[in-house]
Amino acid sequence: MSPAEIIIKKRDGQSLTADEIRQFVQGFASGSIPDYQMAALAMAICLRGMSAEETSALTSEMLASGTTLPRSDDGRPRVDKHSTGGIGDKVSLVLAPLLACCGLVVPMISGRGLGASGGTLDKLEAIPGFRTELSQDELRNISEQVGCVICGTTHDLAPADRKLYQLRDVTGTIESVPLITSSIMSKKLAESLDALVLDVKFGSGAFMKTLEDARELAASLVRVGANMNVKTTALLTDMNQPLGRMIGNAVEVDESVATLEMNGPADLQRLVLALGAELLVAAGISRNLDAATATLNEQLTSGNARQKFDEMVIAQNGDPRAVRQVAPASEWLAPRSGYVVGIDANKLGWVIIELGGGRKVMTDRIHHEVGIEMLVRLGDKIDQGQPAMRVFADPADASRIRPLLDSVIQIADNAIAESILIAGRLVDVE
Ligand code: URA
Repeated sequence: MSPAEIIIKKRDGQSLTADEIRQFVQGFASGSIPDYQMAALAMAICLRGMSAEETSALTSEMLASGTTLPRSDDGRPRVDKHSTGGIGDKVSLVLAPLLACCGLVVPMISGRGLGASGGTLDKLEAIPGFRTELSQDELRNISEQVGCVICGTTHDLAPADRKLYQLRDVTGTIESVPLITSSIMSKKLAESLDALVLDVKFGSGAFMKTLEDARELAASLVRVGANMNVKTTALLTDMNQPLGRMIGNAVEVDESVATLEMNGPADLQRLVLALGAELLVAAGISRNLDAATATLNEQLTSGNARQKFDEMVIAQNGDPRAVRQVAPASEWLAPRSGYVVGIDANKLGWVIIELGGGRKVMTDRIHHEVGIEMLVRLGDKIDQGQPAMRVFADPADASRIRPLLDSVIQIADNAIAESILIAGRLVDVE
């Protein structure tokens, strides 16, 4: 079949065969199918969707466009976590060293900021000297010697995804469950994992605004993982307010270190333990989630995980003891008394970008020292004049973004129901 016929078939709502998907992805990866035909197929997929079989075939082909990380034969299970992205989401920084202390190997390939969400690599680069661009050999050596590594992708892992993602970004084809699934899973499966946990977020600061949409994406991701023989679990987690108190780069590293020292915010610690427990059980280290949580807690309270974080930072050329600069602080005061009934987490992400803590264009330099600390959470009672947010920025920038901050927190007379951090769990979807 010609590329145009395959596009027409999908445009008309029919299913594509594994061979047709292979032909198209291989042609796109090799350059014989031009961007405009791939963009047309992406739009057809966006509008018509794909069955579970088609999504798995698309994922396999994207994976096959590159190499996979070689496995060592030391018997340690290899695991990873992927988050669909949220504001203040610093779970990776705590979870990778924690899992390494439990006998797992964690080759965590992470990304830069996407939309309003900050990127794990940008956060880690707030540590003086920290290198996120590693060769495949360095990635493999550090993950095996230290037990964990957090770095950017290499050119040979799922290259078709990189090419397709750039095209989707400018052709209105990001928001599609099969395309998101194949994009995320091809990159994760290239790490040659035994188990994967997915943190699929919903709410004002997430890609998926509703729990139902998050559940649909999670089901698709878990199904593809299972089809590809990787034990895959997903948690559906609330992103209607930032995770933890800190949003930014240096301040998020500081909060991650505090969490490794058992002084972090309760929601962050809870989510780290829940995601970690899924992996310890899936990898066969613990017999159930309670036993896994106890093991993770031991590694935190003993200080082992904190020490492992430093080992990882040093292996990636960073100086864990160097002072991470934070810009001067100023406070945003509540204009009235009442209860906090809404927090526009997405807007907080854009405020950080506006302050220079994220990029507006790809070439922007990140200002690691800016940030925001949330002093209230949803449901809190607040008095007029009480500090509700602390902004870390140059004073001129802090005044410039004040009008944006004014619409972040919604205060009302009556309290709202407490939000539930972990709203669902999916394992092996039928
Ligand atoms: N993250 C990815 O890696 N791919 C997508 O398509 C969306 C989010």
